Amino acid sequence: MSYDRGVDLGFVRSYNESVVLGLVRDGAATRVELAELTGLTPQAVSKIIARLVAAGLVAEGGTRNVGVGKPRTLLTVVPGGAHAFGVHVDRDELRVVLTDLTGAVVHRSSTPLSAGFTPAVVVDALAAAVSSAAVSSVSVERLLGVGIGIAGPLDFRDGVVHDATGLPGWHDVPLRELVSARLGLPVLVDKDTNVAVVAEAWRRGPEFRDAAVVYVGTGVGAGLLLDGTVHRGARSGAGEFGHTTIQLDGPACACGRTGCVEAVHRVRVESGDLPAAADVLGVAVMDLVRLLDISHVVLSGRSVLDAPGAYLSGVRARVPSSEWLPVEVSVTALGADLVAVGAAQLVLGQLFA
Ligand SMILES: [Zn+2]
Repeated sequence: MSYDRGVDLGFVRSYNESVVLGLVRDGAATRVELAELTGLTPQAVSKIIARLVAAGLVAEGGTRNVGVGKPRTLLTVVPGGAHAFGVHVDRDELRVVLTDLTGAVVHRSSTPLSAGFTPAVVVDALAAAVSSAAVSSVSVERLLGVGIGIAGPLDFRDGVVHDATGLPGWHDVPLRELVSARLGLPVLVDKDTNVAVVAEAWRRGPEFRDAAVVYVGTGVGAGLLLDGTVHRGARSGAGEFGHTTIQLDGPACACGRTGCVEAVHRVRVESGDLPAAADVLGVAVMDLVRLLDISHVVLSGRSVLDAPGAYLSGVRARVPSSEWLPVEVSVTALGADLVAVGAAQLVLGQLFA
């Protein structure tokens, strides 16, 4: 992955170092295993490990007996080796987390945002949250950067938010530049649903390869993981699942069309019929499963967190899981932190190949 102005990767000097660091994170615990997995010589692996230990990213601790030969030294990722901030700009709240190198949250805060908030309000609130967390928790040279998840349409490549849905006044906002200039840190900006899928992929590990994180908040969207990679599409616009048509003569939608999943779902929520609302989502999710052949569906967002049982059973009823077509439907374990955590992990992820 490359960014025209991304995170400073001074922590990791070569591609092979990031490969080895990623394998240690995923559980490869000895130099012998690392040499087998990478095809590098034992000497090369030892050199890389020495560099990662000196950089404070990997530690040696304990040994494992392997029968013949001397016990093998075990390697682990050092949690405090690097940190990143993750930010969720929601429609009424700014949520900020600080995560360590393992992706675990070590500090969190949230600030209410009043209706019609401007980019300047977000930058001010973010600066305040970051400085209070940074002072108390982490040294600046261990800080990799800031990841921000926000509603699209936006361009992931340059961090410009074009016309964030539901955020009036947000037109062609160079959010990455604004925040980077204010904080003096590298910044990445991505769609809220994309970083949500980053967070689930980090938590679930390599077996989580073809998946959708369905986000049901003020709007409805989906983050897509296809063949192990976040799918952003040609213009960072993929995953506008809420604005696919489910009813040709359906209700008007905020996007200007009619009968979108989001609009039909909203009407049913407003009528107080939650099972019927969940059923709309279930039908639409099954279309997604058919279209993309995904094996995991993770439900998330405020509406789901308020009534997880209703959404789980509504979606599971429409997404049958057979022996030959297993589809796991679950609710995110990261709760309201999901987007902020994923945004931080987007930044940390650049250290790992
Ligand atoms: Zn729509």
